[in-house]
Amino acid sequence: MQSKLPGDQASIFAEMTGLAVEHNALNLSQGFPGFSPDPVLIDLVSKAMRDGYNQYAPPAGHLRLREKISELIADLRGKIYDPEHEINLTVGASEALYVAITAFVHPGDEVIVLKPAFDCYEPTIKLQGATPVPVQLEAPYLQIDWNAVANAVTSKTRMIIINNPHNPGGMVFKDSDLKQLEAIVRDTNILILSDEVYEHMVFDGRVHRSAASYPGIAERALITASFGKTFHTTGWKMGYCLAPKDLMREFRKVHQNLVFSIHHPTQIALAQYLEEPKHYLGLSEFYQAKRDTFLNALNQSRFTYTPAEGAYFQIMDYSAITDEPAVDFAKRLTREHKLASIPVSVFNVNHRDDHLLRFCFAKAEKDLLKAAEILNSI
Ligand code: PMP
Ligand code: GLN
Repeated sequence: MQSKLPGDQASIFAEMTGLAVEHNALNLSQGFPGFSPDPVLIDLVSKAMRDGYNQYAPPAGHLRLREKISELIADLRGKIYDPEHEINLTVGASEALYVAITAFVHPGDEVIVLKPAFDCYEPTIKLQGATPVPVQLEAPYLQIDWNAVANAVTSKTRMIIINNPHNPGGMVFKDSDLKQLEAIVRDTNILILSDEVYEHMVFDGRVHRSAASYPGIAERALITASFGKTFHTTGWKMGYCLAPKDLMREFRKVHQNLVFSIHHPTQIALAQYLEEPKHYLGLSEFYQAKRDTFLNALNQSRFTYTPAEGAYFQIMDYSAITDEPAVDFAKRLTREHKLASIPVSVFNVNHRDDHLLRFCFAKAEKDLLKAAEILNSI
């Protein structure tokens, strides 16, 4: 049998979480909150089930939820997406990313990906018979060389994928980043896939600048979002995509044939939960406090870092400690010191090793303090 993804490895997230469980280690590897969602939201989901919302939802998603998303995006990003034609609920942002790439990328096309990159973009591009064109960022991945991106554009470039705030780097795009991207795609047919799952987590007074707020990008952008990140419910796999009507028409054809529709009772619950802006505002403050608890406790550590600007990951440089490759060191930390992280090298071009580990700080305070204690002792 000829593999459709030759050489691609099993997910590093599943591997490191598996190792953490095996060695009873504190798990700061895979990105998921170590605390429960709001009980109010859980009650709304079970109420929706009792109220009878247990059969197929409309393929685009529950209309009231699409309307709420439209209002939220208009308020926060200053652009109106038509709930009827420009918003689609998906099985997490993951499905939105898969569908967006599948609907528009053809065999022979090129898709530019900024590395390090979240792991699902490139396999999905390859499954279309297209070629991922990586542009490597320099550690600690807090800046983009837009000249390098412009130089990677060819007549075959179909799409550029951006991720803002950035996983694993914790970078938050600046106005100048979006403006430079806007200039690169002007007068081209290039689409932008903007993965904004950490949109509500930006620190130290920064603001999230969505692709939706830049007309030259929004007109050609598919924007992906995740309720899993925003409401501490990664296991529910609820997300959505925003796109102009002509793009959304194609997106919906693939979505319909992939899953048809998504979990109905949760959509009913989210539509009600989103009525209260306090349920999604305030996340930046919440996660900034967690980042600071973790970093302030690292007062005797030989790990070095620049504080994350957004998302819920902190990159740490361990060059002062050992020369071990990041994958080996991350595994040894898990086995011997009972602390699991993600080796960033797996997300880089040719697995370039900058001696960096990624720690997820979406955890309870006691776990962050324990993790810091372990890191201080190494
Ligand atoms: N994009 C990025 C950058 C992510 O970190 C994640 C988290 N898994 C996803 C997409 C997928 O989101 P979801 O869990 O909603 O499918
Ligand atoms: N987004 C999460 C992370 O970056 C994990 C998602 C997954 O396990 N696929 O760690």
